[in-house]
Amino acid sequence: MDPRHAILFEPIQIGPKTLPNRFYQVPHASGFGTGKPWSQAAFRGMKAEGGWGAVCTEYAPIASDADELPAVGANFWDDDDAAALQLMVDVVHANGALAGIELYHGGARSTNNQSRRPLIAPSAIPDEHRPYSVPKEMEQFDIDRLLGQYRDAARRAKDVGFDIVYAYAAHAYLPVQFLSPYFNKRTDSYGGSLANRARFWLESITAIREGVGSDVAVAARLTVDSLGSPGIAVEESLQIVGMADPFIDLWDVNVGSWPQDSGTSRYFREGYQLEWTSQVRAMTAKPILGVGRYSNPDLMADIVRSGALDIIGSARQAMADPFLPRKVAEGRLDEIRECTGSNVCILKEETFAHIGCVQNPTVGEEHRRGWHPELYPPTDNPDRSVLVVGAGPAGMECAIVLAKRGFAAVHIVDAADEIGGRLRWTRRLPTIGDWGRIVDYRKIQLDKLANVEVITGRELSAADVLDYGADLVVIATGSHWATDGLQYPTHEVIEGADAALPYVLTPEQIMLDGKRPTGNNIIVYDVDAYAVGIGIAEALCDMGYQVCIVTPSPVVSPVADLTLEAEFVRLHLHERGIKVVTGVVITEVSQSAATGYDEYGEAWSTPCDSIVLVTQQVADAALYLELAGAPEALAAAGITGLYRIGDALAPRMISEAVFDGHRMGMEIDSADPNVPLPYDRERRFPGDPGAPSWPRGVTVQRPA
Ligand code: ADP
Repeated sequence: MDPRHAILFEPIQIGPKTLPNRFYQVPHASGFGTGKPWSQAAFRGMKAEGGWGAVCTEYAPIASDADELPAVGANFWDDDDAAALQLMVDVVHANGALAGIELYHGGARSTNNQSRRPLIAPSAIPDEHRPYSVPKEMEQFDIDRLLGQYRDAARRAKDVGFDIVYAYAAHAYLPVQFLSPYFNKRTDSYGGSLANRARFWLESITAIREGVGSDVAVAARLTVDSLGSPGIAVEESLQIVGMADPFIDLWDVNVGSWPQDSGTSRYFREGYQLEWTSQVRAMTAKPILGVGRYSNPDLMADIVRSGALDIIGSARQAMADPFLPRKVAEGRLDEIRECTGSNVCILKEETFAHIGCVQNPTVGEEHRRGWHPELYPPTDNPDRSVLVVGAGPAGMECAIVLAKRGFAAVHIVDAADEIGGRLRWTRRLPTIGDWGRIVDYRKIQLDKLANVEVITGRELSAADVLDYGADLVVIATGSHWATDGLQYPTHEVIEGADAALPYVLTPEQIMLDGKRPTGNNIIVYDVDAYAVGIGIAEALCDMGYQVCIVTPSPVVSPVADLTLEAEFVRLHLHERGIKVVTGVVITEVSQSAATGYDEYGEAWSTPCDSIVLVTQQVADAALYLELAGAPEALAAAGITGLYRIGDALAPRMISEAVFDGHRMGMEIDSADPNVPLPYDRERRFPGDPGAPSWPRGVTVQRPA
């Protein structure tokens, strides 16, 4: 271990518990909750195996009026829920880490969709997240009942072996709603002065303490400055820290509402929260942990050494690389998969999709597919050679997995002069440079693997592939942006759109070929509505063009809402003078104008000098289809398997291309690798009749 990092491996006392090192997975959503306990156990357990000193659940609703569906919390209403989380606790303990649980009540921010209970809150005003649901103002018996539920939940947490139980006052949930005068308009002993507003949270801490007894640590998660979003400012927070400190064993502090707390790499540098969280030190001698998109162990060690924080908290980086602590301990820094800060994990959660990570395709697949981020089952037949055509996210990941599984020779060939596929240019779009970590990590691993040869600057034809001499061929040739404006709103191309014309451009032409628009008045037509449209608009703005984004969507980049970037993206574009026209479908372009219709079906037209088409991607599948159409030629060439992955199969987000490449690498020996193997859908609870007795991946013990 590099001595600079030694401080990160010093144990630290948290009340009655000893945290073995300074790496801490803070509570964060997984989509598993208590409904998928095997996946939950394996997902969290992997971080413990990778060296995180403590691993926490996601938010754990303590009552049916904190029901979160369709979002998934770790419902902790009764002993059955607790039994489900026993699996996680056992796996985390078996790997030497502490297990934490975040007791939760959302107040006016819950959904109560399933329970059909009214929302409850300090005052009867809807929250901005549930604007059409007026909550009930809590009566004293609601407060008493909730305090009892905190106490009972804490007792259950202790009974199943949790080491750390949270009193959660962050992200504008119920305790913050009491703390903040924005929510709390009460005139009784729970409203008005700071002491009154703090009363509910302090009483909940007491209730949790009563529930856990003396052998479990109590952690406070507190937003120390809401940064202008609903909540509290740092001056009051510090006083609150002072009030609660005698009853708290660990301070887990953050800032903002969720978009700031999980700030993306576009707008938040590593360590950005310290400006506020470091102020807590003055108020407490207890251990403090904080998050801030940390992935650099040097910076982590510097912060602990400075005393600003004692413990480095992480959610996203702990998913991108569950083995970060071990890699730091073993000096394997070049093997760390650094989080890109793109919030694809959060996009998954916001769309109720299965959890996923753009860097680590094994996230969430630990149990249901038995995948491990560091261990690769050796192939039964290692003597075969594999040719991977295309070194984009899918091809790079596939080649790495195949090599780690022991295939004798893996060649990855790309027509371009460098690997990375679409990331060669998307990483150069303004503000998303950290997405390039997807390539950087893989380039380092490919270079290290002795059985991989990376060949760039060579475009392969079907004849070249047949002549190559490989036993297996994986086609990962990717996709390109439509050159004719093909788009979902019309299911047609755009009349007059042809990227061979000087005034019609695609993103690749601008970023890779150096093509520049004619004139100065440019439209970026963004049907894709994620990162490329706004990125190209900004890049053109940097070059001095007047740019207007036209989109059929009701807002610019609706996907940015799902990555928590919307408010920043839109403000940023506004500040840069980039105009936005929403709700418009362009159906025709000419040298001087774009025309179409607006959201009411009325004719729409605007003069412009050039247009950039960001309508949809088109798979580059010709090579695969030509080879697949010549089975005799494949047989004659000795090719026993031909497969297609990534965008060449269907253009998708980068996370899905990486996943696809990983899956092919893992399943290439199956009977039909083009069809994914079944995975455990975990439809039954442990103990139910017919519950699966064959957990794959991390082996967890069923509760007695
Ligand atoms: P994905 O995300 O599916 O990995 P990308 O579009 O990012 O796809 O990357 C595909 C890569 O495949 C690009 O770098 C491209 O240069 C390369 N490629 C496409 N066709 C060929 C070919 N015939 N021979 C070699 N490389 C190719």
